[in-house]
Amino acid sequence: MSDNFNHFDSTTQLLESKVAALEEVIKQIQEEKNDKELLDFPWVGNLGQWYWMVPSNQVIFNEKKVTNLGYSMEDLPDLVGFDYFTEKLHPLDYDRVMDNMKSHLMGLRDSYEVEYRIRAANGEYIWYYDRGKVTKRDERGNVLLVSGIVFDINKNKQIERELKEANEKLSEMVNVDALTGAYNRRYILKYLENEIIRAKEDRASLSLIMLDVDHFKHVNDEFGHSMGDHVLKSIVDLLMHEMNKANEGEALCRWGGEEFIIVLPNKNNEEAVNFAEKLRSSLCNNTIDGVGTITASFGVSSIISKNDDSNILIKKADDFMYRAKQEGRNKVSF
Ligand code: GH3
Ligand code: MG
Ligand code: MG
Repeated sequence: MSDNFNHFDSTTQLLESKVAALEEVIKQIQEEKNDKELLDFPWVGNLGQWYWMVPSNQVIFNEKKVTNLGYSMEDLPDLVGFDYFTEKLHPLDYDRVMDNMKSHLMGLRDSYEVEYRIRAANGEYIWYYDRGKVTKRDERGNVLLVSGIVFDINKNKQIERELKEANEKLSEMVNVDALTGAYNRRYILKYLENEIIRAKEDRASLSLIMLDVDHFKHVNDEFGHSMGDHVLKSIVDLLMHEMNKANEGEALCRWGGEEFIIVLPNKNNEEAVNFAEKLRSSLCNNTIDGVGTITASFGVSSIISKNDDSNILIKKADDFMYRAKQEGRNKVSF
């Protein structure tokens, strides 16, 4: 901002403009004092008004602007310039603030208006919202005075952050089954439809595994419903563990009750059958504490014609799964 000094080619002019700026400030402060309401803006976070006398680079401001940051008025230099504040700006906000002020001074923006983080005495950064405007220029158009108002918006920013995090969590939850953490029906249908489109475009394979836990009603009847829940969670953990070792893009969904669907992009029918066989074998060789061994029946379908859509693939996998049940359970059918 020291560039502004260069506009003045003589000391007299400099002094004249300083006097003019000071007069303007005094006038404004007087007006403000006369209007008590202006001093006590009831807006939350209001830290008062400031005036920047550009030629002498002197800032007059409400004490709140610095005491709010934990600095004491006694520690301030005699003359506080623009840089007293800008040197405390967060490094990530510095350029944005300077550019905003520069473009306002150059007349490219109607006002100076920015949100930035400023360093408090304890080293933490606090969010401020700052807005100002050139309120006086000399007859040659050089800026004499910029007046503004500043707000502490740290609380709003914190709420904004929390809201964003809560929203991210919510959108995750919308797609996920609360008990097991597998995707839900809503999500997998959309996912499957997209993957089918992609597979057809890329002439790639795509398969689907449908699995249903065998005699799950017995688990509930014998060990209780909450143990049943625990078993469902354990099954999902086991399936996810096996899938983590496999390709990306494979998605597990709780289709309903004790039925699950796995979407396998890029796997042809033979590969999907092998994978289902691996899952079947891991499951029946696994012991769940307090329950014992659990098995499931599997049906596998794959895209074979360009007419195959999500309904057809799900129906086929379901039919095969039922056949596996009929053929004695703990079986992969395709
Ligand atoms: P099959 O081998 O023929 O599939 O027999 P099954 O007993 O597994 O099948 P059935 O459809 O008769 O019973 C499924 C049971 O799953 C009934 C239902 O109470 C139970 N179930 C569904 N959802 C949940 C759940 O979220 N938690 C618990 N604990 N049980 C559930
Ligand atoms: Mg079942
Ligand atoms: Mg079932």
